[in-house]
Amino acid sequence: MLFTDLGLSAEILRAVSDQGYTEPTPIQAKAIPTVLEGHDVLAGAQTGTGKTAGFTLPLLQRLSEQKPANGYRPVRALVLTPTRELAAQVGESVETYGKYLPMRSAVIFGGVKINPQIATLRKGVDILVATPGRLLDHVGQKTLDLSQVEVLVLDEADRMLDMGFIHDIRKVLALLPKRRQNLLFSATFSNEIKRLADGLLDSPTLIEVARRNTTAESVAQVAHFVDKNRKRELLSLLIGSGNWKQVLVFTRTKHGANRLAEQLGKDGLTAAAIHGNKSQGARTKALADFKRGAVRVLVATDIAARGLDIDQLPHVVNYELPNVPEDYVHRIGRTGRAGNEGEAVSLVCVDEHKLLRDIERLLKTEVPKVAIDGFTPDPSIKAEPIQNGRQNRGGGRSRAGGNRGGNKSGARSHNAGASRGRSAGASRGQAGSRSRG
Ligand code: AMP
Repeated sequence: MLFTDLGLSAEILRAVSDQGYTEPTPIQAKAIPTVLEGHDVLAGAQTGTGKTAGFTLPLLQRLSEQKPANGYRPVRALVLTPTRELAAQVGESVETYGKYLPMRSAVIFGGVKINPQIATLRKGVDILVATPGRLLDHVGQKTLDLSQVEVLVLDEADRMLDMGFIHDIRKVLALLPKRRQNLLFSATFSNEIKRLADGLLDSPTLIEVARRNTTAESVAQVAHFVDKNRKRELLSLLIGSGNWKQVLVFTRTKHGANRLAEQLGKDGLTAAAIHGNKSQGARTKALADFKRGAVRVLVATDIAARGLDIDQLPHVVNYELPNVPEDYVHRIGRTGRAGNEGEAVSLVCVDEHKLLRDIERLLKTEVPKVAIDGFTPDPSIKAEPIQNGRQNRGGGRSRAGGNRGGNKSGARSHNAGASRGRSAGASRGQAGSRSRG
């Protein structure tokens, strides 16, 4: 199948072809005609599948078919995303694919000044991409009218619920017209997602590309057992000996991310940390430096990394396994994207054996274990419980609510969202990374 078979306009096809894409990915082939027909969609798709273009292209097409009446441009499409990074990326896609259309889009999220956003909204925006907290700030200030929204997209809905945004989402839903098209994208399907979908979607078309909770087949996975206090040494060795040029490393906590980036720097590796305590400017810079190769190692918490679109990222390392097995799937979804080969390495200490088993149970397959000479774990070291939510020893601010740095006006609603995190908050114990990564 080709893009030209999907019923998209010449302007959109030209923008797609500028990107060098000729064939739609499986989710695009299914979602584009369905969305064009006006159906609600429930799509199970991870990042890396091309889902963003899967909803952006038909959205642009539908909206461009109707001209705005006498200059007034209300928001007609609203895309909600869990994180600022994902909002920025979706916004970029809207710009990229809509560049030959007379369409206006805007991205709004917290952590940056609200006034420029107000000015942009005032000029009129057709497609708005937003994180829930800042969106509601605008609604509260009466700088945004959502009464003309025709299409709602919830992107990475599972992560929005994980981050405690359900109340914010419900508030937003109450502001939208009853008649509208709804598209819900989620990598995983918990009962909560099903409940949300039931209340939101009208006879949705189900679209599922990769099997739920399975990892992309193009990702080679491996686990190395290693003592906790030797993980950094092993990581530096793997990066150096493999001559890895670009590696995304996951830690469980913000403090852990900072510390590791610092230590890698001392090992002579250029490294930056990205998490919710960093200002938006610092996060954007770290990501840009990483993308252009000026920084070799990007150390991230789960939420900060969610939705990062880094083309052909070859290496992902789980420096610490996630407490929630689904996060493993999200993490390694950063590599082997859109058919590229990728490698996901997990460094597993004795404390984490159970987490690895939980992950394997979810994947319904074993992660191959490979021993590295000189790093055999010391059998006398006993497993200790993972310090849930208290990993900020010495780190000071990494609890939920401690993410105010650089989050000024967005802080209130986002922190509120985080602290409202459903009971999983307690079981995940990831107060720090849950709050916005
Ligand atoms: P997404 O799942 O939307 O985050 O997209 C993953 C990556 O695939 C992005 O880097 C896109 O630019 C890329 N991509 C999207 N559609 C296609 C396509 N039809 N062919 C090749 N790459 C694509």
